[in-house]
Formats: sequence, C-alpha cells, structure tokens
Amino acid sequence: MQHPRMEVMCHVNNCQYYKSDYCHAPKLEVNAKKGNTADTSKEALCSTFRPQ
Ligand code: SF4
Repeated sequence: MQHPRMEVMCHVNNCQYYKSDYCHAPKLEVNAKKGNTADTSKEALCSTFRPQ
C-alpha cells in the first residue's frame, strides 16, 4: 500500500529529527494523549520525538 508523503513543519528544536523548522524523521507517528481520540491539538502528540 502506498502511503502519502508530506513535509512536516515542526518547532520542537531539541528533537533529534528537527532541522531548520522541519522534521527529518523517515516516518512519523502521532497518537492521542489518552486512548484513540483527541478533542484538541494539545491532545495529539508526536510519538516519534526523541530528545537530543
Ligand atoms: S519527530 Fe516529531 S517532534 Fe521530532 S522533529 Fe519530527 S515532528 Fe518534530
């Protein structure tokens, strides 16, 4: 199955994948803070984040 590809702008500049306001991770996983649903963007988190 072919997956969509997109540029991901990010401002978490202490992540290993951050470079010049863009994410350079090979793929990204985003999860809800609790369970599988979110009501606001604050409840949707980047699980691929790795601190430098
Ligand atoms: S992995 Fe997540 S936190 Fe890290 S640069 Fe990419 S989008 Fe930002």
